[in-house]
Amino acid sequence: MSGFAPENDDRQRVRDASDIVAVVGEHLSLKAKGREYVGLCPFHDDRNPSMCVIPAKQIFHCFVCGAGGDVFTFIQKYHSMGFREALEYLAQRGNIELTPFKKFGVGGNDGEGSYQRNQMGKREVMAANETAQSFFKAIISHPEHGSAARKIIEERGISQEMVERFGIGASPDRWDGLLMTAEKNGMSISALMGAGLIKERDTGGYYDALRNRLIFPITDQIGRVIAFGGRKINEEDEPKYLNSPETALFRKSTTLYGINHAARAIKRERTAVVVEGYTDVIACHQAGVEHVVGTLGTALTSGHATVLRRLCDTVVLLFDGDHA
Ligand code: ZN
Repeated sequence: MSGFAPENDDRQRVRDASDIVAVVGEHLSLKAKGREYVGLCPFHDDRNPSMCVIPAKQIFHCFVCGAGGDVFTFIQKYHSMGFREALEYLAQRGNIELTPFKKFGVGGNDGEGSYQRNQMGKREVMAANETAQSFFKAIISHPEHGSAARKIIEERGISQEMVERFGIGASPDRWDGLLMTAEKNGMSISALMGAGLIKERDTGGYYDALRNRLIFPITDQIGRVIAFGGRKINEEDEPKYLNSPETALFRKSTTLYGINHAARAIKRERTAVVVEGYTDVIACHQAGVEHVVGTLGTALTSGHATVLRRLCDTVVLLFDGDHA
């Protein structure tokens, strides 16, 4: 069909720029074996390297679970993405500009195929998180609204470089800060509710879920914001930490804070260090120890272990002991 010609061209250009060994190697540790590479398969509970990557054919294949395909299949399966999303991710990675495609963001029209409709929940939450992240970042540099949050950062000895690397933000001391920003930007309330950032009052109307907090964006392995953690600014507020609820994008039991900044070092060191809190992770990275990730106030789950086992052999737990 001629209507798909630009996309086919994009697909080829992106494929040419996305060597499968390099792309898979960014997600799991690969070892050369003759003309091929082997690693632990991320698609089943693999103990012995069963996944084979074949550079000559630009494909991967698992001998145990049968998973296999090209570089797009790998990204789609690994990140639970649709084809278009995987194409965009690999294009961004390879600095390739795609042929403009009809936007299917928040409030998009119908008639754009079933893929877009299926992805609507995730895309809406992702868009809401992006809006919120811009807002929280703007607040932390605001002379008045960000001053209390900046004071905590200073007391904790967190450098400006880390504030930027980890995208730390703040929410203002009012119940409608994000709400008003969203309205101004034409973002739908339902998207923000889907992201758990806006809640509905029993008496009608809406309010910000994270009010007056230091905000730590939580990302997936490729750096997309999937949730937020908020630390209280006022002593009298409870609880001390408040996370986004689980959403179409966010599963607490498989998410590790800082994984996007730590994955490379974890593979290099063949070891992951797991700590408890956001600020513990940031302090380690600031000290130049980058193979460190954090759980989100939980014990290490089997989901976390699965994510880490793909990257390294050894996991060191550094927990205070005052929680679990
Ligand atoms: Zn497998």
